[in-house]
Amino acid sequence: MKFSKLAQYYEKLEATSGRLELVDILSKLFTESDSAEIGKICYLIQGRVAPFFEPVEIGMAEMTIAQAVGRAFNKDKDSVIKLYRQKGNFGLAAAQLAQQAKSNKQKEKLSVSEVFEEILKIAKFSGEGTVEKKVSNLADLLKKLDPTSVKHVVNIPLGTLRLGIGDPTVLDALSMAKCGDKSLRPVLENAYNKTSDLGYVAEAFFKHGGKGIKEIKLVMGKPVRPALAERLPNADEAVKRLGSEFAAEPKFDGFRVAVHKNGDKVELFSRNLEDTTHAFPDIVNGVLSEVKAKSAIIEGEAIAYNPATQEFLPFQETTKRRRKYKIEEMAQKLPLIMFAFDLLYLNGKDITERPYKERRKLLESIIKKDNKVVKLAEERVLHTANEIKKFFDEAVSAGLEGLMLKKLDSPYVAGGRGFHWIKFKRSQAGELTDTVDCVLLGVYSGRGKRTEFGVGGLLVGVYDKLRDEFVTISRIGTGLTDEEFREVNKIAQHLKLSRKPARVNSKIGPSFWVEPKVVLEVYADEITKSPIHTAGEKDGIGYALRFPRLVKFREADRRPEDATTVSEVEKMYKQQYRKK
Ligand code: AMP
Repeated sequence: MKFSKLAQYYEKLEATSGRLELVDILSKLFTESDSAEIGKICYLIQGRVAPFFEPVEIGMAEMTIAQAVGRAFNKDKDSVIKLYRQKGNFGLAAAQLAQQAKSNKQKEKLSVSEVFEEILKIAKFSGEGTVEKKVSNLADLLKKLDPTSVKHVVNIPLGTLRLGIGDPTVLDALSMAKCGDKSLRPVLENAYNKTSDLGYVAEAFFKHGGKGIKEIKLVMGKPVRPALAERLPNADEAVKRLGSEFAAEPKFDGFRVAVHKNGDKVELFSRNLEDTTHAFPDIVNGVLSEVKAKSAIIEGEAIAYNPATQEFLPFQETTKRRRKYKIEEMAQKLPLIMFAFDLLYLNGKDITERPYKERRKLLESIIKKDNKVVKLAEERVLHTANEIKKFFDEAVSAGLEGLMLKKLDSPYVAGGRGFHWIKFKRSQAGELTDTVDCVLLGVYSGRGKRTEFGVGGLLVGVYDKLRDEFVTISRIGTGLTDEEFREVNKIAQHLKLSRKPARVNSKIGPSFWVEPKVVLEVYADEITKSPIHTAGEKDGIGYALRFPRLVKFREADRRPEDATTVSEVEKMYKQQYRKK
């Protein structure tokens, strides 16, 4: 496919206001693509040249882009910036300059693959003279493109290509393209949950069809979308669900780590699948010296621990390790222990289909009792509600968060929340059993004192997984300190959109919309019904949060699709009245 054709699709996608339309346009685009380029197209429509977990960032600031655009179309940097200020978007400014630049060359020739490779090359430049190399290569590329292609290519390195296409939307469209309906979405989703790589899944699907994709296995270096736990109101309900024999483990309050060990190479991924290898050299070394396996994918929870007092440190301490600077110094000061709780892959084999109890046995065979860094999470096989309560009290008095209960015969369900894992947390004050992770959808401009911050209130939503949409659940005006108001404003300005994104479903309009990207942890007194909000809406009535307060930003470890879902809200709504 010619890149100019893809650029036409970008135009259509950009003008779309609803999710169904997005799926429709995308599926047409995919129908016109072949297996050699479908993977690249999947990355490009999300403004990337690699899967999101690979730290390949093209990363060019506005000034360097202005330089490249100027060089491509014989303008000085300042006049490019001036035009950008007028237009409000770099892509639009660059497209206008491309239009004006008279040239005899035929400009619609480059293929999607050629443009992709060129952008990838630009992303990979490093070392001395990087900026100059990036500028000159981008300028050369822009010269060869038609104005519409220029518009969109310029937005890629800036990170401002905002088509709002979520991964589930791409999966729907892939199924539509090949079989005219969404029937293959579950199979595709399963493959995606195992590899987190849309391009890889799309290419395999185009090459081997639905049958081939069913067989997809875990791949070393591609993060697995984590299995998640369900909530239940009490131990008796848990026993009903789990049967007469089940496993219980302490729930550690740190952060999730997935270890991919392949010989001497170790990679770590966070809960939201970011590569965090460089942040935790102590865990990497621990894995290399202590884990007795050639290759393995292990999941665990990392938590700061004081070996002198044998105390687990609170989350606020552990989270200090999630930083980008002074890494070695912090590793000395606040060493981490990883409590391994699952094994998904061992010595070349994907073992996610095997029952939990077998995986646990294998995990025990590669992690020794006297390990210092990578330790086994304690596990007890229990039978009754009383045993659960006893272990729960023990765990809490040891400074832990609560318990995880696990079905003994369950496979590892990548990317799914299900009753194979049930969590019991120390109960929080108030009625709700848990906080709600909301996605920032819009901002209300400030009045009075808040004019200074630019933000008077926030419109937040949750994720409707079935429809792959963000639906509103609350407006938040309190709980933010002045400092937080300023911070929200900074973030919101960066994500500001001129109109409602296609995947947002709302009955109310904020002062301005933002790209759904930032996850906020929100505490509320209660979940109520409301005609204003679209979360779980039936007959015009949805769910809302009563007296919502912002607890903290969660952008570091949650993607918007990892926010609380409508079905979880529904369950929380029902459970709040069943608590004694
Ligand atoms: P939550 O984030 O509240 O839904 O709880 C699930 C999280 O608990 C997982 O993502 C893990 O990071 C963490 N966790 C702590 N201990 C365990 C354990 N023993 N088994 C599984 N997950 C655990």
